[in-house]
Amino acid sequence: MDLQNVAKALEKNRYAVKVFDTKEEAIQYLDGLFDNLIVGFGDSETMEQMHLYETLSAHNTVIDPKQSVDNDDFLRIARDCLTTEVFLTSVNGMTEDGVLINLDGTGNRVAGSLFGHRKVYYIVGRNKIAPDIEQAIWRVRNIAAPKNAKRLQLRTPCAIKGDKCYNCASPDRICNGLLIQMKKMNDIDMEVVLINEDLGF
Ligand code: SF4
Repeated sequence: MDLQNVAKALEKNRYAVKVFDTKEEAIQYLDGLFDNLIVGFGDSETMEQMHLYETLSAHNTVIDPKQSVDNDDFLRIARDCLTTEVFLTSVNGMTEDGVLINLDGTGNRVAGSLFGHRKVYYIVGRNKIAPDIEQAIWRVRNIAAPKNAKRLQLRTPCAIKGDKCYNCASPDRICNGLLIQMKKMNDIDMEVVLINEDLGF
């Protein structure tokens, strides 16, 4: 897959795009963008693997639901993230023609993706990209969501068996809202940071 072609498709969908070969280059770029700002995070495994909280916190106020100590704390922090000046998150899937897909349990990532900020950044590893919407959604439901459920130690069939989505009725289900973002939202800046490495689920 040629990330430059994916970048062109994203630009056609009105996103700004940057492409990096390594996560270290992307970290350096992102670290240079923000200083003394309030930055909200969208609960992203990709960003955790990049240690972005530690890097950006050195000279910004970073609000990250992953730093919560319990569910009430998570909800409070996630709410605070909705009105920060900038918001950083990832996607669960992306198509080669630049459609972004997120599947959310609580809704904080999807809500923060769409409105409330001056600018939103999506940080995306190559493993998230699929040829078309059907395959991207299949990947999100059968690979990303079960891995997330397992990471969170949830009592769902996908977490226990670890092989696919069972479209469960578990109270722990994390697949509640599916966002298919066809183009950049109006009246908000959005940038996709593509990285030529596997990152997140
Ligand atoms: S719907 Fe249930 S079984 Fe399917 S991925 Fe989500 S949590 Fe797992």
